[in-house]
Amino acid sequence: MRHVLILGGTSEARLVAARLAEHADLKITLSLAGRTKNPLPHAGALRSGGFGGADGLAQYLRHEKVELLIDATHPFAARISSNAARAAEASSVPLIALDRPAWIERAGDRWSKVESVEAAAEALGDAPRTVFLGIGRQHLAPFAKKPQHFYVVRSVEPVEQAMCLPRARYILGRGPFHEADERRLLAEAQVDLLVSRNSGGEAAYPKIAAARALGVPVFMIARPPAAARPRILFTEPEALVAHVVAFANERGA
Ligand code: NAP
Repeated sequence: MRHVLILGGTSEARLVAARLAEHADLKITLSLAGRTKNPLPHAGALRSGGFGGADGLAQYLRHEKVELLIDATHPFAARISSNAARAAEASSVPLIALDRPAWIERAGDRWSKVESVEAAAEALGDAPRTVFLGIGRQHLAPFAKKPQHFYVVRSVEPVEQAMCLPRARYILGRGPFHEADERRLLAEAQVDLLVSRNSGGEAAYPKIAAARALGVPVFMIARPPAAARPRILFTEPEALVAHVVAFANERGA
């Protein structure tokens, strides 16, 4: 049985795990960083927590006799992707990756492109604004330096007390989201600026569409520079699944 390790933490990784688990000749392990207390149900075996850097991951690949490594992590999770590339090379395990295309600005969008979360906080200016932050609860610190603004913070897990911003409303939510709900939320909270990372994908896009519909400007945070990307890269989960099935058939049982 071919052991396939999926580095996950995304809806696409869950989808790929589910599709590959249908193949009895594949042993699927889905790896999560362990940040979310109650991860959504998934197919295959689950392992959780860091590997201990690229060396630790390489060791895991050898020890668990992994024959194919899939990087299906979030586009902003740069460290694990870099570790995956190094570990795959060190252990001679083939690596393939799923790459979500970034969102592209459309007619009616009012985007300002910024390089980082820090740059977004800096660019808010002095006049008080109501700012929607859908950027993950670990990335709020730069906004604490701009306490004149009111923040609407949405995260999957509650924000720890120590990370809380002085003037903010906290909302729990896990995608996929819907445009009508996002519109209602932005309008009710009287949000006049949205800060988002250019994550790509469909689950988080409705807030961008809602901002467009309401004429709300968006600070769009660019992706971190990609690590050395594997040669085999897919943008569609189903294409990746087909590749893995062909790979397993080629290698035989
Ligand atoms: P990161 O900065 O690239 O990774 C930090 C460390 O967390 C890695 O060095 C690794 O620890 C561990 N790690 C990350 N992903 C892992 C995985 N799938 N399995 C096992 N260990 C993992 O990543 P991050 O930005 O903190 O994101 C953590 C996870 O959340 C990722 O799996 C990502 O797919 C998911 N996620 C991230 C975002 C985001 O905006 N960054 C959004 C949605 C979901 P060791 O070095 O000890 O192995």
